[in-house]
Amino acid sequence: MSNTEIFQIKLTNKECVDILEDFYWGTKKICPYCNSENYSFRATSKSEINIYHCNNCNTDYTVLVNTIFQNTKLPLTKWFEAILITTRITEKISARYLAHKIFVTKDTALRVIKNIEKFDAKEKFIQRLEKIIERKG
Ligand SMILES: [Zn+2]
Repeated sequence: MSNTEIFQIKLTNKECVDILEDFYWGTKKICPYCNSENYSFRATSKSEINIYHCNNCNTDYTVLVNTIFQNTKLPLTKWFEAILITTRITEKISARYLAHKIFVTKDTALRVIKNIEKFDAKEKFIQRLEKIIERKG
């Protein structure tokens, strides 16, 4: 993609949550602490992330636990954009460039880049994401 291209994915934060739940869990909501599938729906957070309660170990969890997105204050839409941008450009991405692209500070961009580097399932995730975006047109 060229530097002048305006990049924004047409996904809502809620859709991003659905995509992550589908990616990590499929149709189940597996507790990250005890692997139980015995859960109750608890609430949806302000950032539209579903909170589940594990009926086995009595802990609340979201799909973000143990992922690069855990404890993030950044909307998932920006994470998804960042992941796509780092994949689509061939040269090593700079924090300044990413900051400019997704409208965050350079420090935030740097943190995002570092986390994306740690994203084990990145290739698989990108394939999935590209397909979803394609379908949405
Ligand atoms: Zn549990």
